[in-house]
Amino acid sequence: MVSKKLVPFGTNIFSEMTRFAEEMGAINLSQGFPDFDGPPALLENAVKALRSGHNQYARSMGYQSLVEAVAEKISQHYKLNYDPYTEVAVCSGATEGMASTFLGLLNPGDEVIVFEPYYDSYPVCAALAGAVPRFYTLRFPDFTVDLKELEKCFSNKTRLLVLNTPHNPTGKVFSRDELEGIAGLCIKYDVIVVTDEVYEHLTYDGAEHIPMAGIPGMRDRTLTISSAGKTFSLTGWRVGWITGPGKLVAAFQSAHQYVTFAAATPLQSALAAMLREIKDDYYHNLRGEYLGRRSLLLNALKDTGFRAALPMGTYYILADFTDLWKGDDKSFVRYLVERCRVAAIPPSVFYTRNPEEGKRLVRFAFCKKLETLSEAAGRLKRLTGQAVI
Ligand code: GLN
Repeated sequence: MVSKKLVPFGTNIFSEMTRFAEEMGAINLSQGFPDFDGPPALLENAVKALRSGHNQYARSMGYQSLVEAVAEKISQHYKLNYDPYTEVAVCSGATEGMASTFLGLLNPGDEVIVFEPYYDSYPVCAALAGAVPRFYTLRFPDFTVDLKELEKCFSNKTRLLVLNTPHNPTGKVFSRDELEGIAGLCIKYDVIVVTDEVYEHLTYDGAEHIPMAGIPGMRDRTLTISSAGKTFSLTGWRVGWITGPGKLVAAFQSAHQYVTFAAATPLQSALAAMLREIKDDYYHNLRGEYLGRRSLLLNALKDTGFRAALPMGTYYILADFTDLWKGDDKSFVRYLVERCRVAAIPPSVFYTRNPEEGKRLVRFAFCKKLETLSEAAGRLKRLTGQAVI
């Protein structure tokens, strides 16, 4: 019954692993959502918005006060200026933002460059738009970009390059040199960049998030997508935003107006107030809290015998389990749930060109309470026979 375009993609791995975790009573370190709530002030803003009549369709490109607050936030953080009414649009989460961008910009046969391992929706968006993905493989444990190799992915049909920094699932934060190198290729081949920067505020150890739009020559060919889900620990709100030059935002909007029309009005209103109220210490504290969670899980993984890549951003850790299990990643995540009651993601599903690269790896999410992570750490000891089962 399913459209031929979608048959190759099957069931979303996040839904599948969360369901399996629930069935088995496992701690869910698979799907990346916090097991704690967002800031109480923001929840209160939403209650107020619901009670004060902010309940009809919002403006399709975004509730007025939210597009203004987003433009202001981006100008403060990155010194990038966007017109709130023509260069900012609100979407129903970054995932819808990405889908509407692909649908609004691409023609059948256009080529799209995607870094693998990728966030799983990117190749699906390409397929829906009738576009052809070309994959560049980032290799464990450094995930560096070799520009000569990357250039081989470009052709005269390349229309888009999809970037994601900080990067899910590797935790890589693209450096300025890498971004400049990628930008140089995009300018040379006249390619548009769509950059998913939803983890922009989750960087560690002094790593700096650098927006692609701020790289010289890139503002006019870059669409940047971000959202409230990760920054405010509200992944269920589905409120994201997209910024870029008017002509590119208009292409996104041409699809968005028919995909979801508008994101939820009371949540947009609540978020607008929050973005205006918070100070820099909110982002600073968020990082500090995530740093504690990262250390706890990283140490537990190392003590158990995983070889983990140190994530400089996001809330994921990619780890090699070779010393613990001889099978592939799919059999390992099953074993992990059955033996330890801890769920994780098998990352080979995030590769198309070189799935072998992901078969010895597993992705853990650390967007969980310290007590959840401590409990998971204790359970992981069962892998080495150090704990009583
Ligand atoms: N972004 C989250 C992750 O990578 C969840 C995505 C989803 O559930 N669709 O885990």
